[in-house]
Amino acid sequence: MLQVKRGRNAGDNPGPVVVILLGPPGCGKGTQSRELSRSLGLIHISSGDLLRKVAREDSDLGHTVRTTMNAGELVSDNLVCQMVLARTAQADCQRGVILDGFPRTMDQARFLCPLLPPRQTIVLDLKMSPTVLVERILGRLTCPACGEIYNIHSRPPRRTGTCDRDSALLGRRGDDSEATVRQRLIDYERQIHPLADHFRELNILQEINADVPPAVLSAQLCALVRTAMGFNDKKVSVSSFAQPRETQRSGQ
Ligand code: AMP
Repeated sequence: MLQVKRGRNAGDNPGPVVVILLGPPGCGKGTQSRELSRSLGLIHISSGDLLRKVAREDSDLGHTVRTTMNAGELVSDNLVCQMVLARTAQADCQRGVILDGFPRTMDQARFLCPLLPPRQTIVLDLKMSPTVLVERILGRLTCPACGEIYNIHSRPPRRTGTCDRDSALLGRRGDDSEATVRQRLIDYERQIHPLADHFRELNILQEINADVPPAVLSAQLCALVRTAMGFNDKKVSVSSFAQPRETQRSGQ
């Protein structure tokens, strides 16, 4: 995956880019990844979606993954890393990928970092208040056919209970109960700090206030990635784009 063409000249194919979306469950990572994917032509890889596919299988592995996910716990690093790596190796990922939900642990980050294209990787860390998150997650509906995500509060389907794209019956995810959600938020906070610190050290982390309407957020993210990745024929490196640490901490 993610092999970079070096020694680029103006007009060269800039090689694949990697956008990593960090953010707590319910902050809109899935929806935003899909929007970015549509407008930038990058492939959206959601580790949760890959795992849900395995969880539907009638096999020992399917059973183990299903049980782990329904308990709101993390699936083994090894399995997740291999699944994501296999997906990024597919031909459609040549332009680049959006990683949604991966990496989630330091071991996953250690596995991933040596594979990332230098100067062509950006990490977007979406920030949102816990109260809003719980309300959002409990209102979330997903299409089992195409994976489109709705929310009964902020993004309802046109016809109650059915997907706008393919009319499939919408459902709730098995891990979207209130008790599980609270535990997932606590776990997320514990896991994300070392990861965010790691990417901050690499100067590729950008903190984003995600507590804004989804359409506003997607316009912001899209503009950000376009500029940082040199789309629109601009050649701007991520390090020249990333804010200094002091500015990021103060949330400006
Ligand atoms: P998500 O769709 O990202 O909210 O993930 C749903 C569930 O899938 C999580 O609660 C975990 O059980 C599992 N999962 C997703 N991504 C990962 C990952 N990178 N590492 C371990 N487990 C994961």
